[in-house]
Amino acid sequence: MAEENVDWKKKYRELTQEFEQFERKSLDTEQQLRLLASHFSVALEGENSEFDTELSALKPLLQDQCVEHLGFLQKISRRVEKQIQNREETRARNAKDTVAALLKWIRMLRTQVQNSGSQNLLDSLEKRSKDVEEKVYELPSVLRDLIELQSHIETGTESDASFSDSDFSLDATASSEALGDEVRILLNRIGAELLELISGLYVPKEETPNARELVKRIEKGFELPHLPEIVHQVVQLVIKSTSNTSEDFENYLIELSSRLNEVQTFVVDSRQEQAEIGQSQKDLDLQVRRDVKKLHLTVKNTHEIGDLKKAVSQQLSGLVKAMDSFKKKEEQREQRLQGRYEDLIGKVEQMEEETRKVKAHMEEERLRARTDPLTGLPNRAAYDEQIAQEYERWSRYRTSFSVVVADLDFFKKINDTYGHLAGDKVLRLVAKVITKNIRVTDFVARYGGEEFVILLPSTVAEEAAQAMDKLRESLASSPFNFHGKPVGITMSFGVTEIKEGDSLDDVFTRADEALYQAKEDGRNLVRSN
Ligand code: GH3
Ligand code: MG
Ligand code: MG
Repeated sequence: MAEENVDWKKKYRELTQEFEQFERKSLDTEQQLRLLASHFSVALEGENSEFDTELSALKPLLQDQCVEHLGFLQKISRRVEKQIQNREETRARNAKDTVAALLKWIRMLRTQVQNSGSQNLLDSLEKRSKDVEEKVYELPSVLRDLIELQSHIETGTESDASFSDSDFSLDATASSEALGDEVRILLNRIGAELLELISGLYVPKEETPNARELVKRIEKGFELPHLPEIVHQVVQLVIKSTSNTSEDFENYLIELSSRLNEVQTFVVDSRQEQAEIGQSQKDLDLQVRRDVKKLHLTVKNTHEIGDLKKAVSQQLSGLVKAMDSFKKKEEQREQRLQGRYEDLIGKVEQMEEETRKVKAHMEEERLRARTDPLTGLPNRAAYDEQIAQEYERWSRYRTSFSVVVADLDFFKKINDTYGHLAGDKVLRLVAKVITKNIRVTDFVARYGGEEFVILLPSTVAEEAAQAMDKLRESLASSPFNFHGKPVGITMSFGVTEIKEGDSLDDVFTRADEALYQAKEDGRNLVRSN
């Protein structure tokens, strides 16, 4: 019995010691937990008002002023758990918004940098921005880098090997260059059209150097301010080259200058638009600089991640909005300008069509003005042009040529005997025989009355005389008939070749003198001089 008593006492002592030990440990743990909770409450304080209410209710508990509040503690715990859940959802939403804003910012930066190095930098920033959703603490460093990149683009300064001046620039000059291209295209088309017009002209000899100069100038390409002067010169040249300026042509010139006026108005307006774009780019520039500065300050001065996030996403969305609105305005302007440009191109095309018509009309008129209606041969005016060209070639390359003046013998008698209509018929037949008997490279014109003139390029007088003798024979043996009766038709020829020191008149006069000699010597003859 005594032994049992001792055992029980011993056990009791041991249990008491154990309990005391356990109680001390519990108190220590509770103390530690209280301390930890107190640390968390300090960390959470100011996060939001609901948290603050719960924390103030918890304060006495945390300060060991009350121990009997298990039920109360459980209630708070449930409420806090709910709030933490809400807070997590908001946090995730904010993180998503922040990442979306960062990615939008990066997309915009991509449009402003060109080289692959900078694009790589943006690639890595894009990846880091995506990580921000999970690791919010990465946000300040991503922002710092983005802001630095943005300031490089804005200022165009180079402070880092990876940021080079030429890589970054706001696209301020792009649309002006695009505009320049459009004007250049228009000017080229107008230039081509003016050249086309000049090429259809028969420029008088004394105007040839001016015309050449003008063509060279247009071919070289000219700037808009010189357009009116060039058009004026072309018009002057056209007037000097066409003896009878038709009403059609005058209308065309009026039309041409009104189209050119439209081109000028377009350019002036476009420059005005350009100036406006410049102003709104400056405005945007200012705003971006302001926002970037604000961001700098926020990142520098804010240490609380929540505040930082809020401020940064506010400023970012402001920045993105400003850029969006600028881009929208610029797109609208570009569309407007493009519309007018297309309209103008349409008008220039219309003008090109009119030029083609006028040119064809001019060509017809020119041909009529240079053709003898009776024989269909070129007339004296055409001969003047042809001999001028031949003379120029000779002056330049010394390629010899011969001139022949031919005249029907006793033609007056034909008219007198058979009538004027029969004479006309003879003239037509003679024209055919001559054309048939000369080379395609030779040229024949009815100079007037019953007188013809033949040009033989690359031919000396001796060869020309031989050719004319064959023609003479051919004519003399041609079976001209009147009312079934044969009529003898003969022709006399005066031949000469171009000689050193000749003027155009000299060479013709010499051929005419040779013709006179042929007549003198008995007609139906070829004489050279
Ligand atoms: P010669 O041998 O000296 O040249 O004598 P010719 O009679 O040919 O010369 P002349 O100059 O005396 O006469 C030229 C004639 O040519 C006068 C004119 O009636 C005739 N003639 C000129 N043009 C035409 C024309 O278009 N049709 C007709 N049928 N005759 C014309
Ligand atoms: Mg005659
Ligand atoms: Mg004659």
